[in-house]
Amino acid sequence: MALQIDENLVRSIVSEVVRNITAGTAAGAAAAAPAAAPSALQPFSPSVLSTSPSALSSHGIFQDVPSAAAAAQKGFEQLRAKGVAARKQVIDIVKKLAVANADAWGKFEFEETKIGRLEHKIGKLHLVPLVPGVEWIRPYALSGDHGLMHEEYTPFGVVAAILPVTHSVPTLSGNIINAIAAGNSILFNPHPGGARSAALAIRAYNQAIQTATGIENLICTIEKPTLESFDALCKSPLVNLLVVTGGPGVVNAAMKSGKRAICAGPGNPPVLVDDTVCTDKAAKDIIYGCGFDNNLLCIGEKQVFVLDRVANALIRSMEKAGAVRLLPAQVEKLAREVFTMKPDAGGCSHPVLNRELVGKNANVLASRVGLNLPEATPILIGETDADHPFVMEEQMMPMLPIVRVKTVEEGIALAKKSEHGYKHSSIIHSLNVDRMTEMARTMDTTLFVKNGPSTTGLGLDGEGYLSYSIATTTGEGITNPQTFTRTRRCVLVDALKIY
Ligand code: NAD
Repeated sequence: MALQIDENLVRSIVSEVVRNITAGTAAGAAAAAPAAAPSALQPFSPSVLSTSPSALSSHGIFQDVPSAAAAAQKGFEQLRAKGVAARKQVIDIVKKLAVANADAWGKFEFEETKIGRLEHKIGKLHLVPLVPGVEWIRPYALSGDHGLMHEEYTPFGVVAAILPVTHSVPTLSGNIINAIAAGNSILFNPHPGGARSAALAIRAYNQAIQTATGIENLICTIEKPTLESFDALCKSPLVNLLVVTGGPGVVNAAMKSGKRAICAGPGNPPVLVDDTVCTDKAAKDIIYGCGFDNNLLCIGEKQVFVLDRVANALIRSMEKAGAVRLLPAQVEKLAREVFTMKPDAGGCSHPVLNRELVGKNANVLASRVGLNLPEATPILIGETDADHPFVMEEQMMPMLPIVRVKTVEEGIALAKKSEHGYKHSSIIHSLNVDRMTEMARTMDTTLFVKNGPSTTGLGLDGEGYLSYSIATTTGEGITNPQTFTRTRRCVLVDALKIY
């Protein structure tokens, strides 16, 4: 079976998808899909939506960690025997199936998780071909008076991956491509709220992989994931590496597990807007990044600090671009819906997020304060103080707090405080290079975007490759195939000096 991916074709499809997502049309995303999937890569059949994965043959879906880890180990050994050609075949299958099934899987995930926006769930799957593959695994070699030295990027074996509920199948697909390009098999403990979506995609991937390569269970999952199954994965002698994408709880648990862990942790990305930019352009960019999938992206714009002298202009530009401004009393009313204050041990209190409102549409949030808005409303905005819970908490909702600052220095200091040292992402809109440099240095974030929406940081209408797992806490950065490798050196002493 010929499964060649044409990189130029992929780029043009991706550009088209991004343009269509910007225009907010699901139909556009569907139109950008290839006309037909190759015969072995049948699009997902809606009929399986009513079938529990366990009622279907295994195809990587397991009830318990010992049997899943043993199957993943066998999958790894089969992949190793078949070499790099098989890795390429598998990656092509995953990319093609993610695109061919984007509509069905996006809809299924949307219905299972009930968060975000359908057209963006579909769009995120169309972008999977942007994740790099085996071409990233290049050995490093030196030769000299004493012969040859050769370093290879080799697999760990079985990699265990933890998925967030915010992007179940996109993160899954990106992790699969990275792990398999590096020669590993992969075993998932998804978020319970997105586990059925994960299982359905894994089943389809494994079926096509087995048909094309004969390899079974290269990708495995726990059908009903729990904290206990996470614990069992951490303790399994067959699991050699953890890849965690999620919030602070799971990152802490993984770091304490004793296993090597790549941790793509939480963020709370601030935006700084100064007085050198066109506010219409900054407003459009901010609304796009913040509104994408109702602000579920960990890189999405979560709070804005703007120089006082351009704050009114920015707010007007945002309203012109579709954002709806809440009055101060409405902001406070919404805050009481979104956060509950819980007492601390020390006699203080802290805000706790109402998970029911995470990833909901702006009009749903607005209805909580008595406003009736169209469903297409991209985001709500409202002025707040710098220490407001909307600013300080990673609330993952299309409600963007705006804070006025007197100086750029004050804005950078408050942006830094609001990011909590996660070192995840930050954004500036400025044409002043000194200010860009100062903010980049102070924030020290993994991703720093200048004059574009946050999504450009993942290669969407910006330069660069895509991954939905940004290893912030442990510092590997935007994950790629090399992140999932061990480095091994071979030395040949004195022989083979041919010059
Ligand atoms: P979450 O932390 O609630 O859950 C993530 C995963 O961890 C789930 O599979 C969950 O079941 C598991 N989990 C949670 N607590 C655990 C614990 N104590 N022990 C073991 N497993 C545990 O997060 P979520 O709501 O699914 O996703 C949103 C969070 O993920 C946000 O904080 C967001 O910033 C972050 N995120 C980060 C990246 C990144 O690339 N850095 C990407 C996407 C999401």
